[in-house]
Amino acid sequence: MIERNHIDALTGLLGDRGVVTRPEEMEAYETGARYDRGSAGAVLRPATTAEVSGAISYCVRNGIALVPQSGNTGLVSGSTPDGSGTEVVLSVDRLTRHFELDLDNRSIRVDAGFRLSDLNRRLEEHDLFFPIDLGADPRLGGMIATNTGGSRFLKYGDVRRNTLGLKVVLADEAGTVLDLDCDLRKNNTGVDWKQIFIGTSGAFGIVTECVLNLERLPKQTATALLVPASGAHVLPLLNAMEERLGAYLSAFEGMSKNAIAAAFAHVPSLKNPFQGGNIPDYVILCEISRTWEPREGEQPLDAVLETVLAEIWELEQAPLADAFIGPPHETWALRHALSEGVKHLGKLIAFDLSFRRGDIMAYCDHMKAAMPEKFPGVTVCDFGHIGDGGVHFNLIVAKDSPLLTDPTFEQRLREWVFTVAVDQHHGSFSAEHAIGRRNQAIYDLYTPEKLKEMAAGLKSFTSPGKLGSVRFG
Ligand SMILES: Cc1cc2nc3c(=O)[nH]c(=O)nc-3n(C[C@H](O)[C@H](O)[C@H](O)COP(=O)(O)OP(=O)(O)OC[C@H]3O[C@@H](n4cnc5c(N)ncnc54)[C@H](O)[C@@H]3O)c2cc1C
Repeated sequence: MIERNHIDALTGLLGDRGVVTRPEEMEAYETGARYDRGSAGAVLRPATTAEVSGAISYCVRNGIALVPQSGNTGLVSGSTPDGSGTEVVLSVDRLTRHFELDLDNRSIRVDAGFRLSDLNRRLEEHDLFFPIDLGADPRLGGMIATNTGGSRFLKYGDVRRNTLGLKVVLADEAGTVLDLDCDLRKNNTGVDWKQIFIGTSGAFGIVTECVLNLERLPKQTATALLVPASGAHVLPLLNAMEERLGAYLSAFEGMSKNAIAAAFAHVPSLKNPFQGGNIPDYVILCEISRTWEPREGEQPLDAVLETVLAEIWELEQAPLADAFIGPPHETWALRHALSEGVKHLGKLIAFDLSFRRGDIMAYCDHMKAAMPEKFPGVTVCDFGHIGDGGVHFNLIVAKDSPLLTDPTFEQRLREWVFTVAVDQHHGSFSAEHAIGRRNQAIYDLYTPEKLKEMAAGLKSFTSPGKLGSVRFG
C-alpha cells in the first residue's frame, strides 16, 4: 500500500487524471498480456516529460518503487507490478502531444505514449510508416525498452536500427531529463548513450520521447504461402529467394502445422488455402514489396513472385514442395492469428529464442523428435521469424494433464529447452521480448558475473532509484 500523504503529493504534481487508485481502474494496468496479475499501490499517468520528471523525483526521494508501462503487451512480465501492492506503475499512455514530422529527413519526433497503430495511421497520408510489424499494438516507449523485432526485421531491422534519438528521465533524486533526441542518422561524437535505454526494459530510465526513422509505404505487395520440401530445405529456400529478390524480400515467416491448426480453430473465418484443407507440416509466409506504383511494361509483383518460385521449383533438389500465392490481407491474417490461437489450446509455456539462421530448423526438428520421449503430453506449436533466426517456441499442455500436478514439471521442461538452445545450439534465451520477471532467472544463470557487475554500475550511475522489474546486476 502507498500511504495517503504520498498519493496526495503525487496528485498535487500530476492532477486528478494523473493518479489512479480505484481498484477497478487500476486492474488493466495490473494485468499482463499473457501471464501475470500483480497489485499496484497506484498508477501514475503523467502527461508531459516535466510531469514524469516531477513524479520520478518524488518517488525516488521517498523510496517508492516504479514500474514503467507503455502498451502493456510485453510477454515477459516486465510491465506489471509484483503482488506486494507497494510498486507504483508509471504509465506513459497520456504522453501523446508531440508529433513533429520531418518529411525531408524522413523522421519523426514523437511522444512515447503513441500506439504503433495510431502513429502509422497518421503517417499513411504521407506514404510513410514506422516499419516494425507485429501481432500486438504496443506503445513506442515499450517498443524502445524491449527493442521490438517483428515480422519485417529481415528488411527493416528492429527498433534499435530505426531509433535516431531519445528523451529519457532518470530515476535519480532530481528526476534528471536526459536529452538524447538527436535526429541525425550519422553521429559519431562519443558514446552513443541512447543505446543503453534500448532493449533494457526500463531499468536505466523512462523513455518519454523518441526520434524515429520512417520508411516509404510499399505501394505493391505480393505474398505466398510456401511449403518447403522438408525442414532441412527451409534455409536453402530462403537463400534462393534472397538471391533472386534482394531488397524486395520483406518477410520470411515460419509457421508449424500445429500453430496453423490452432489459428484456424481460434478464428474460423480464416481462409484455409491448402489442398483438401490439409495443413502441411511446415509453411513459410513470404512477402515481397516495392514502394512505387506499377509502371507500364513492368512485370506486376505477383508475376515477379510467380517467376521466382518457378525458377526455384526447377532447381535440382528443389527446396519447394508447393506454393499458394494469395492476397496479403489473407496470408497476414493467418500469421497474426497464430499467437492468440496457440494461447487458447491449453496451458502455454512459451519461449522466445533465436539462433544462427542455419540452426533454427535443426533446433526445432531436434526438439520435436525428442519431445514425445522426454516430455510425453507436451505439444510443440512453434512459429517464428525465420529470416532473422527468431522462433517463438511454444509448448502446450492440456489443461487437465496430470503433468500440471507435478510441481517440478515446468522447471524441468524450461531447463531442458534452454540448455539445448543456449548450450548446445549457441542461441539466445530472449530474442526480441527483452527481460522481465518471467525470464530473470535465466538471465541470472547465463549472464557472466563481470557483465552483471558492469550493469549494476551503470544502474547506480544512471537510475539509483527503484525502477523497473528487472535486475541486470
Ligand atoms: C499477440 C502478441 C504478438 C507479439 N508479437 C511480437 C513480435 O512479433 N515481436 C516482438 O518483438 N514482440 C512481440 N510481442 C511482444 C510485445 O508486443 C513487445 O515486446 C512490445 O514492443 C512491448 O511494448 P509495450 O508498449 O506493450 O510495452 P510494455 O509491455 O508496456 O512494457 C515492456 C517493457 O518495457 C518497459 N517500459 C515500458 N514503457 C517504458 C518506457 N516508456 N520507458 C522505459 N521502459 C518502459 C516495461 O517496464 C517493460 O519492462 C507480441 C505481443 C503480443 C501480445
